[in-house]
Amino acid sequence: MLVLGIESSCDETGIALYHTERGLLAHHLHSQIAMHAEYGGVVPELASRDHIRRVLPLTERCLQDAGCQRSDIDAIAYTEGPGLAGALLVGASIANALGFALQKPVIPVHHLEGHLLSPLLADPAPAFPFVALLVSGGHSQLMAVRGVGQYELLGETVDDAAGEAFDKTAKLLGLGYPGGPALSRLADQGLTGRFTLPRPMLHSGDLDFSFSGLKTAVLTLVRQQDTLDPQTQADIALAFQEAIVEVLVKKSLAALKQTGMKQLVVAGGVGANRQLRQQLDLAAERRRLKVFYPPLAFCTDNGAMIAFAGAQRLRFANHDYAFSVKPRWDLSTLPAA
Ligand code: ATP
Ligand code: MG
Ligand code: FE
Repeated sequence: MLVLGIESSCDETGIALYHTERGLLAHHLHSQIAMHAEYGGVVPELASRDHIRRVLPLTERCLQDAGCQRSDIDAIAYTEGPGLAGALLVGASIANALGFALQKPVIPVHHLEGHLLSPLLADPAPAFPFVALLVSGGHSQLMAVRGVGQYELLGETVDDAAGEAFDKTAKLLGLGYPGGPALSRLADQGLTGRFTLPRPMLHSGDLDFSFSGLKTAVLTLVRQQDTLDPQTQADIALAFQEAIVEVLVKKSLAALKQTGMKQLVVAGGVGANRQLRQQLDLAAERRRLKVFYPPLAFCTDNGAMIAFAGAQRLRFANHDYAFSVKPRWDLSTLPAA
């Protein structure tokens, strides 16, 4: 079965073709980052309009790369939510229009299920069950994953998401949008030990996170500096990254201990962070645990994870072509596949 995946929940248009026997055949991404950068964040209306421009050309490029025709597509998966309503509507309406025109079924996909299953696109891929650390721009959650659609929430952020904390802290340090990758690069130049920031909720006894206080601590630290020279900037970036990484690593280990599971899967944009990967790998090696990551290109939003998640949910494919979007949507409400 050949599944076309369409991702348009936020500021990237991601298109991919996934074949249930042959694997990922093609994927293309158009990021709107440059367009939104001058506004310091995503402008929803601009995002929607740009998705309209990109979806079909990127689909044609995927078909070309894969050597396929439109008529070869067996089903069309699209992100139904959560995300920006207007942006989601673009993907949903194009997916349903294509489905209707080709008389092929459509599969609405939960964006976070896409992120969550993206490590299964890697080789080697983890087998169920595993603990998932989902750390993206809008979410920070620990989940026990026993199968597709069998997600038990173990803990989550009570305020900002990890990626959001990276982005907001980067802004405080005068870095562009989205600041996560830039802050991480800056931290590479930092000196350990000059600043120490709090580890929020490290000893809270549960698996929840809180990151907004960390951002405030950075703000205080920045204000205390006479000048924010490049080295000081880098030292603060490192202190922030060390704090957030330590909390994510320790809580992930606690989740593994609590569930008795031996595998950790990391998904979402913050999963691209090098220090997080290093620290998780180190901690896992010591405890004989295994950690899995998505291929780097599939940490942030992409079409491959939507095509793949759709392929796991062919049972839910429908010919109704009556669609809505779900800007807010709780992952734990999904049915098992
Ligand atoms: P959600 O999936 O929750 O709706 P999103 O789609 O915006 O949110 P992703 O695309 O998964 O989130 O990830 C984007 C986030 O990842 C941004 O906050 C970005 O700063 C962060 N990020 C990307 N690369 C890195 C990195 N190397 N280090 C830290 N953060 C990073
Ligand atoms: Mg994004
Ligand atoms: Fe995302």
